[in-house]
Amino acid sequence: MRRLRNVKIVATLGPASNDYATIRALFEAGADVFRLNMSHGTHDDIRARHVIIRQIEADTGRPIAILADLQGPKLRVGVFADGAADLVDGAPFRMDLDPAPGTVKRVNLPHPEIFAALEPGASLLVNDGKIRLMVKSCGPDFANCTVTVGGTISNRKGVNVPDVLLPVAALSGKDRKDLEFACELGVDWLALSFVQRPEDVIEARDLARGRAAILSKIEKPAAVKAYAEILAVSDGIMVARGDLGVELPIHAVPPIQKQLVRGARAAAKPVIVATQMLESMIESPMPTRAEVSDVATAIYEGADAIMLSAESAAGSWPVEAVTMMNNVAISVESDPTYRSIIEASRTVVRASVADGIVAAAREIAENSDIKAICCFSQSGTTVSLVARERPRVPIIALTPLIETARRLCLTWGTHCVITEEQSRFKGAVIAAARAARAYGFALIDQVVVTAGVPFNVRGTTNILRVAPCDERLIYSVDPE
Ligand code: PGA
Ligand code: MN
Repeated sequence: MRRLRNVKIVATLGPASNDYATIRALFEAGADVFRLNMSHGTHDDIRARHVIIRQIEADTGRPIAILADLQGPKLRVGVFADGAADLVDGAPFRMDLDPAPGTVKRVNLPHPEIFAALEPGASLLVNDGKIRLMVKSCGPDFANCTVTVGGTISNRKGVNVPDVLLPVAALSGKDRKDLEFACELGVDWLALSFVQRPEDVIEARDLARGRAAILSKIEKPAAVKAYAEILAVSDGIMVARGDLGVELPIHAVPPIQKQLVRGARAAAKPVIVATQMLESMIESPMPTRAEVSDVATAIYEGADAIMLSAESAAGSWPVEAVTMMNNVAISVESDPTYRSIIEASRTVVRASVADGIVAAAREIAENSDIKAICCFSQSGTTVSLVARERPRVPIIALTPLIETARRLCLTWGTHCVITEEQSRFKGAVIAAARAARAYGFALIDQVVVTAGVPFNVRGTTNILRVAPCDERLIYSVDPE
């Protein structure tokens, strides 16, 4: 069941993918990471899916990553006396703190901190930006607006405020509960929605206390501006194109996607391109040409992972959607142009011994006799550095830590193997050769092995060895 591609696939679970058989089928079709969306479903639902994924992991013997996506400070209007109201272009409309049911003239927006931060001229976007309001005047408990783009606004619709850095905590009360629940349950990645500043990420990291890696969803203009600082304190990134395309003009999203993907790769941190990748497959067994092309673009850009949202969580064709992504990935990655694009976008980093070793490993792997780069790692850091090089051959990550193996399921080109703790280099080389053979990557050929001696100490990569896969040769020539 090894993957024949480098890019990873993230599949969101939901009502359409709730049972063992479907989730197993998603995994077999190519899903490497499962996303549990904390915005929907109860803790019991989430727990049930978690149990199933861990069962599949045990049944197949392959590490699988679980990503819990926290809802974040999503703003919503209150309710309407009639359930909804039709707003027409040019009409006045007021948002305020009054909890009374809304009308065509006004509605409750139960967020005092928003009113405190608003200024005349700011935009309020309702229902994924379908409705637009412009603030004319505002005070501590109200904003008088003009409808610039009208439409029907109904109970509890979401509100985006793109122009203002909101003085809201990154984690709501619900997020804090969800975070603790997810960490207790044992997830590998926590995704933070609507991150605005690096402090937001640090806050979540402090709460997670190492139990999960932290992935920042970039979906606010403020986060795009502070990207370098946010990236520095995050373990991974999601290009959250859904809200990004609401908060910014939709045509601004593709260049931002390119910039975020390149930045994350240069920092050796995994980056997911997300949202509407195969949107039409929610209803149809075939995607549009444009969607296929969008998936292909993300792969050509060198993204670590591509993601399905409603396609796998709530659509009619979840397994077909994963199969489609898998097929597009195999097709793109076998195109010689793919290699040349990936090579051309490589950042040269020479900051440490480990940087030098991974660059050398990649260069040696250009040799036709080398079939894999086998990488011993405790924290996964060296594996991420090898992945940043985007080598021509598969990366086999060998680690005694299941948590590390699971987290690396999001990393480009990486196949994870749990090994016993190593104490001698010869034993490590033998384990590497065995893993390469077991995966079917190499039989009589050679592999590159990287490791750190002494073993089992984090951040000590200092050895590179070109080793034969034939064990008799290792025994005969290798020193202890
Ligand atoms: P969401 O995040 O699906 O949780 O909103 C992704 C996005 O906004 O693209
Ligand atoms: Mn979002």
